[in-house]
Amino acid sequence: MIKGKIRKITGPIVIAKSMKGTRMWDVVQVGEEKLLGEVIRLIDDQAVIEVYEDTKGLRIGEDVVSLEKRFSVELGPGLSGSVFDGLQRPLDRMRKEKGDFIEKGVALISLDRKTLWDFVPNVKKGDRINGGDVIGTVFENDMEHRILSPPEMSGVVAEISEGRFSVEDVVCVLDNGEKLKLYHEWDVKVYRPFKRKIDFSSQLITGQRIIDSLFPIVLGGTAVVPGGFGSGKTVLESAIIKNCNSDINVICKVGERGNEVKDMINEINSLKDRKGIGLKNKTVAIANTSNMPVVARETSIYTAITIGEYFRDQGLNALVIIDSVSRWAEAMREVSGRLEELPGEEGYPVYLESMINSVFERAGSVETLGGFSGSLTTISSVSPPGSDFSEPVTQAMMRANKVFWGLDQKLAWRRHYPALNWLISYSAYAEEIGRRDKEFENLRKNVMDLLKKESELERIAMIVGTSALPENERIIMEIANVVREEFLQQNAYDKADSFTHPKEQKAMMKLIVNFYEDMKKEEKFDVIKLERLRKGLRTIRFGME
Ligand code: ADP
Ligand code: MG
Repeated sequence: MIKGKIRKITGPIVIAKSMKGTRMWDVVQVGEEKLLGEVIRLIDDQAVIEVYEDTKGLRIGEDVVSLEKRFSVELGPGLSGSVFDGLQRPLDRMRKEKGDFIEKGVALISLDRKTLWDFVPNVKKGDRINGGDVIGTVFENDMEHRILSPPEMSGVVAEISEGRFSVEDVVCVLDNGEKLKLYHEWDVKVYRPFKRKIDFSSQLITGQRIIDSLFPIVLGGTAVVPGGFGSGKTVLESAIIKNCNSDINVICKVGERGNEVKDMINEINSLKDRKGIGLKNKTVAIANTSNMPVVARETSIYTAITIGEYFRDQGLNALVIIDSVSRWAEAMREVSGRLEELPGEEGYPVYLESMINSVFERAGSVETLGGFSGSLTTISSVSPPGSDFSEPVTQAMMRANKVFWGLDQKLAWRRHYPALNWLISYSAYAEEIGRRDKEFENLRKNVMDLLKKESELERIAMIVGTSALPENERIIMEIANVVREEFLQQNAYDKADSFTHPKEQKAMMKLIVNFYEDMKKEEKFDVIKLERLRKGLRTIRFGME
């Protein structure tokens, strides 16, 4: 056993001596309370440890024990419907058993050991299995959960069982003596291997018109949503979760207020997705609220992305939502400061960007080890102080993500929601989607042109008034106004308006583009016809007759 002693404590950072034999990233138990921490530096026989729990009460000279393994998550049945903290401790179960306060130093038992699962094998004695193969299935919340062999394991099946088991029971033994259970562990900092990256298969349909039609995201894509406080990041993300075509969602709340997390979980528990499946059944929540120790935020994103990869490996389309990456970066900054590292821009560590890249590189569409196609999509919010998009976290996220939904506080103040600024937002997938769907490309281009022209004319119009503009320019201004009010704006709280199917979105764009063409031909603005356009759009939007 590797057991050292505390030599120094500075906030969440503890230095322990006599730790010879421990390795980087090993998990350790610190002090009498067995606080969980991770080795982040080694200097001779001293270990610098980042402690994930409150270090108040810790004293110099107390024991530090290395668990001699890296921080791993448990992957298996029982994930969906659960609420974990960043160390994958089950918050909901702990609350039931122990009350509202999370005890310090609680051991890392993540998946429920009591639940029994009906295991149906998919392999028989003598079969050869490789990493990522499906050894059987269980039913979890009406959905099939494929039990995978761990990625690095292979051998010939010597024994295979059928029946009711807990995640801890051995269900399969290989000829080399390896024992497989319903779950396996995975080091969160290591990406889960796959056969190869593949092209995206289709759009992630959000039902949000400005997104699907103008700045689309695909299954396996990456999107960043920067926006100041109250600009609508959380509402937008929750509208997407409720409506989109993902098979499974992992929601990672980092450093948000506790009651916001509670509201979100209540909402998830009460909702059904578009196929009528309870949202809870297809959602895993990871919460590190603002009242939990700051450094514990660091692991939560890795935990979320690893769980997302695990579902991807089952051949599913997983969506990971991170709200917000800024709070994660701030945790890194705090730790870096305590370690007295040379600071980079705005005090963030110089490795900020490489850390961000290492997370978002893990998104994508893949052929899994087991031969399925699966995807991992990420949508992440960033909360730049003062809505300044030039700050380091927003900039690094823009480079690491392919879609940029820039929220504009001015639009939010005018109650134009979703407050995506169409002049600064972009999607690197739009071009490829357009290549596959010419009609989409044509409609998107025309609507974007209209909006761009409007912004060019806006300044003149402000001076002289819309009615003083030449007829062809007035037409643009009037139509663009209708586009903003009836197409771009979308009320997340109105049942009919909160989701528009892409087919209907196309129909709306067609109405707009055709109308614009007509007006251009006639070279005369017609108020009555414009009202007809508005009515046509509203009919599709609200599903009215
Ligand atoms: P942020 O997470 O960026 O701080 P929120 O997502 O909590 O902001 O949004 C703040 C408020 O803005 C919400 O409480 C809601 O009133 C309003 N809002 C945001 N988006 C929409 C929307 N799509 N439809 C209607 N109201 C919205
Ligand atoms: Mg928010």
